[in-house]
Amino acid sequence: MTSEIRYDRDNVFAKILRGEIPCDKVYEDDHVLAFRDIAPQAPVHVLVIPKGPYISLADFSTIASPDEIAEFFAAVGKIASDLGLDDPGYRILANHGSDGGQEVPHFHVHIFGGKKLGAMLPK
Ligand code: 5GP
Repeated sequence: MTSEIRYDRDNVFAKILRGEIPCDKVYEDDHVLAFRDIAPQAPVHVLVIPKGPYISLADFSTIASPDEIAEFFAAVGKIASDLGLDDPGYRILANHGSDGGQEVPHFHVHIFGGKKLGAMLPK
């Protein structure tokens, strides 16, 4: 079954992309949208999403074009930099599936910053 068939067009990020739900946008280009997380877990907590219907990194890394993948990760770096996070630093994170704790089935990268972020995973 292709990703297009499995992709849930009613997921919250699909609704944000269609403009059905508002978001606090920080960046947009032809292929990428970034907006602030509704429940921030750090002083800066931004979500970066591709505009295509990719469920997770598994889809994105295998189905998206090399240009789309390169442009996406270049955008993640630019957004973090434009947010002033290069120094003193930040963290990016992408959850995949149930063990990864993914809640929204549209591929996204979290950017966290604005404080010392501590241990990578809870002990
Ligand atoms: P996940 O657990 O899937 O990696 O992360 C999903 C993230 O989406 C969570 O951090 C959650 O707070 C955020 N989120 C869920 N619904 C909305 C929404 O309607 N708007 C925004 N801006 N963020 C949302």
